[in-house]
Order: sequence, then structure tokens, then C-alpha cells
Amino acid sequence: MAKKYSKTKLKKFRKTILERMDEISHDMDDIKDGILDKGNPKAGLSQDSVYSVHMADAGSDSFEQEKNFMLMSRESDYYKNLSLALERIDKEEFGVCKICSGLIPEERMLEVPNATKCVDCKTKDKLNLK
Ligand SMILES: [Zn+2]
Repeated sequence: MAKKYSKTKLKKFRKTILERMDEISHDMDDIKDGILDKGNPKAGLSQDSVYSVHMADAGSDSFEQEKNFMLMSRESDYYKNLSLALERIDKEEFGVCKICSGLIPEERMLEVPNATKCVDCKTKDKLNLK
């Protein structure tokens, strides 16, 4: 008899994951706004002043931009992982180790909702790779 989380537990996980996805999509909106703001040259300035303002800020701006893009891709990866976790909840595979079919502890699933292996199997996996 394969182990799995009860429907009640799965519902709880789903709620937590949906809440996180909501937070992430808000964060991504904020980051996107930041990128767009920085990307727009200030209107109403003459060519010369646009150029000098741009030169003065260029260093920190491009650093900001880079940071934002990095954040953006990290958040969207996380978002994708969470939606995969939701799919696993639908198939009732959520929280079941795909190697030993054991149940992955609840704390770990809350911390890493997209985990598909228990800590034991993951550690063994890493050793095998070496
Ligand atoms: Zn396992």
C-alpha cells in the first residue's frame, strides 16, 4: 500500500502554496515596475542633459537592472516550481518520495514544496553522482 498524504493535508498544502504564489506574483509585479521605471529616460530633458544624467547614473542603474532581472528569474523559477507542486497535489503524488515511495516529512514539504525526494534518497543520490 503506497503511502500518501490525506486529502485534508493536501488541501492545507495547496492553500499554503497558493498563498506563496500570490505573494510571488505581487513581488514580480513590483520588480517589473522597477525595471520599467529605470528603463524610461526622463521626458522633457534636452539631449545633453539626458546624456549627462545617464552617464552619472549609468553604473548604479545597470547594477540595479541586473539585480532586478536576477530577482525576476529567481522568482519566476520558484513560481514554476510551486505550480508543479500543485500538479502533484492534484495527482496525489505530493510529498511522496519518487525513489523509495516513503512519505516526505511535512516540515520539509512546507519548506521545499517542490521536493520529490526524501532527504535520505537525496543524499544517496548526491553520493552516487560523485
Ligand atoms: Zn526516499
